Amino acid sequence: TGILYVVATPIGNLEDMTYRAVRVLGEVALIAAEDTRHSRKLLNHYGISTRLISYHDHNEKGRSEQLLVRLQGGENIALISDAGTPCIADPGYQLVQRCHHEDVPVVAIPGPSAVIAGLSIAGLPTEGFRFLGFLPAKTQARRTMLQRCRDETATQVMYEAPHRLLATLADIVDICGSDCRVAIARELTKRHEELFAGMAAEALSSFSERDSIKGELVIMLGPAPPLAPAMTISEQLLHLRQTTRLS
Ligand code: SAM
Repeated sequence: TGILYVVATPIGNLEDMTYRAVRVLGEVALIAAEDTRHSRKLLNHYGISTRLISYHDHNEKGRSEQLLVRLQGGENIALISDAGTPCIADPGYQLVQRCHHEDVPVVAIPGPSAVIAGLSIAGLPTEGFRFLGFLPAKTQARRTMLQRCRDETATQVMYEAPHRLLATLADIVDICGSDCRVAIARELTKRHEELFAGMAAEALSSFSERDSIKGELVIMLGPAPPLAPAMTISEQLLHLRQTTRLS
């Protein structure tokens, strides 16, 4: 059988292609891409003329079966998305899962992903983190998700649309507190790249002053500070004895 290569592509800066990604995309029989016209520009930049076929949210299931037949017939296929790593808040899961089920090898060609790029510069703890994908667009669902973040002991990472940033920051201040540590990475790897790192209330006032907020965003929330450890009963007794003796 053939191999399915899951290939990461740049999240803005065309120079962020790996040598291996360029080689593999040039060697495979077919590239499955979210938006073939968008990806053609990237491939042209690298002089890659491999055939493209669409693979997106709306044809994922049917297309997976067609691609599987070709893989089983011995063709190597690459999967790419519009930007970053396929399957990370992007299509691909169906195809990868079907490949595992049919014993077709799946190989990662790693590279950019906004989650990892954002975390790497956020200045927040990263021994553990939780990636939530896109925050829900509806207010109540978003607030419920943020309520679940509030007591997390790991950094939380989420994707958000720029026109919802202010509403989301207001919810973060309200639910997680004005002193909650946040980092917002905007337009990573692009011309207007910026990073905000500070308290939630500062982020809200800083972004509120702008005429408009554009571009792509990653929001990261620092972990909740550890609660003061509860005293054991013997510690409480000791504490009580000491305080009564002193008074
Ligand atoms: N698969 C991609 C990855 O690996 O990062 C994510 C795809 S998802 C459909 C697109 C979202 O990722 C954007 O709305 C934004 O939240 C985030 N994103 C993508 N590129 C970004 C960039 N250059 N700077 C900041 N966020 C970015």
